Amino acid sequence: MFPVRTCCVCKSKNEKNKLLKIVKNKNGKIELDLMQNKDGRGLYVCNKDECKNKFLEKKHLSKVLRMKIEPDLYEELKIEFDAIKK
Ligand SMILES: [Zn+2]
Repeated sequence: MFPVRTCCVCKSKNEKNKLLKIVKNKNGKIELDLMQNKDGRGLYVCNKDECKNKFLEKKHLSKVLRMKIEPDLYEELKIEFDAIKK
């Protein structure tokens, strides 16, 4: 059994290993945490297009991360998300 986390987009609960984890570390760096072992404030998103696309909307991102999203970071995250195999 894996711990259960809530998707920050659709609010549905799922086992941690079935969700994607995004971490904001102490230095304010945002990254996709595929191994789910990085330190920092973690956010979870369902690994499905619906939630991923919505998560990547700039407005949503800056709201859940409580920070301004620079275009570079935004593009970086998009590429990382696109690289995830379903
Ligand atoms: Zn979801």
